[in-house]
Amino acid sequence: MTASNYPSGSPRGAARSGPGPELDELAQSVGREAKELISHLYPYCRSLTGNGVRQTLAALKEVLPLSVHEVPSGTKAYDWTVPDEWNIEDAYVADDDGRRIIDFKAHNLHVAGYSAPVDARMQRADLLAHLYTRPDRPDDIPYRHFYYRDGWGFCAPHRLLSELTAREYRVVIKSTIQPGHLTYGEFYIPGSAPGEILFSTHICHPSLCNDNLSGIATAALLARDLMRVPPRYGMRFLFVPATLGPLVWLSRNEHLLPRIRAGLVIAGVGDPGPLTYVRTRDGGLHVDKVASHVLARTRPGDALIREFAPKGYDQRQYCSPGFDLPIGCVMRTPDGEYPEYHTSADGLNFVTAPALAESWKLMRLMAGILQHDRRYLNTSPKGEPRLGPRGLIEDADRLGMFWTLNFSDGRHSLLDIAERSRNSFWDILDGARRLEASGLLTAIDDEDSGS
Ligand code: ZN
Repeated sequence: MTASNYPSGSPRGAARSGPGPELDELAQSVGREAKELISHLYPYCRSLTGNGVRQTLAALKEVLPLSVHEVPSGTKAYDWTVPDEWNIEDAYVADDDGRRIIDFKAHNLHVAGYSAPVDARMQRADLLAHLYTRPDRPDDIPYRHFYYRDGWGFCAPHRLLSELTAREYRVVIKSTIQPGHLTYGEFYIPGSAPGEILFSTHICHPSLCNDNLSGIATAALLARDLMRVPPRYGMRFLFVPATLGPLVWLSRNEHLLPRIRAGLVIAGVGDPGPLTYVRTRDGGLHVDKVASHVLARTRPGDALIREFAPKGYDQRQYCSPGFDLPIGCVMRTPDGEYPEYHTSADGLNFVTAPALAESWKLMRLMAGILQHDRRYLNTSPKGEPRLGPRGLIEDADRLGMFWTLNFSDGRHSLLDIAERSRNSFWDILDGARRLEASGLLTAIDDEDSGS
């Protein structure tokens, strides 16, 4: 399977904005495609910097025409500095017969990220000081790294310790840590109105599928779908190494921040657990209401909504007090709360096409409301206008038209009206569009609304 198998546009990408069989079918197809894309990206040895990230972004370019940015080592981003770039060619622990007991080429989790180069013979005890295992997960390779500190290490299943019976081992890590770049991807779909919506996903983890090839694949396929129809608000997708990536992007783009109306961090969206939405720091912003509405309509009683906390994924940076951006987080089982987390058990069998499909659908529906929610003015507010002569009466109740007419006073958005009338946003939107076509509603531009 090569990345060129991914077409640059889906033939059925432009589904209607609301839930229904058409969107379900599209989501199922996207879920299968996301799983294939994950399989393709799985072997690359990603890290905070380096060629694994470049290979990943090059493969994503087959899905959507994103820009790749290279930021030199030493560049400041607030309290952080882009480190030297790390690359690795090979690494192993071998016994006296030259047999590789731990082999980077078999699984790139075997070497802790940012491990310094080593070529030495060492006693078992000295090797063990650099060997990381998880006694509670004896069959799995843990994920470790040496970001922002010196060191090296191997990671292995705990059960391997009993097989390390020789007194001495050859230990080799062929890596480089030298001035280079931090690499990230960015894709922007321009909108017609002022403002934009930001999607951000982290690309620094090596062969781990839920964390975060699931986010990378679903974000790329969401961007590809959304680019098919010119949006009202711009939509920006960032594929960045965790923590430092958002800070580098923010430090280079502070002039854009007032434009950000809403956003989502996308991470860990392929595991079998229920959907989870983490609110913005404020907790009551438009994007939070949009997430609640979609989850209540698509997964009533199942999905989880959590309050913001300064932990977890990159919302920690976007929602730090100096930015306080209106950005929530979409995931499934929260980070650290599933046993496979940060181990080789977060592999290709852990993420499923149906879970990826459902997560993608949630984001697609949220993006639709974020694009289409707006305020209208009732042009005939003195009494109820007559819907019969306008051919609207038959659908008026189903599409909540009396609610929309009553509350289109310039203060309530369609989502507000949907919530107040206990209707679905998409029915209210359909009704509003018909009322607008008949001249009974007029849309309020963002510039007019003072928002
Ligand atoms: Zn992680």
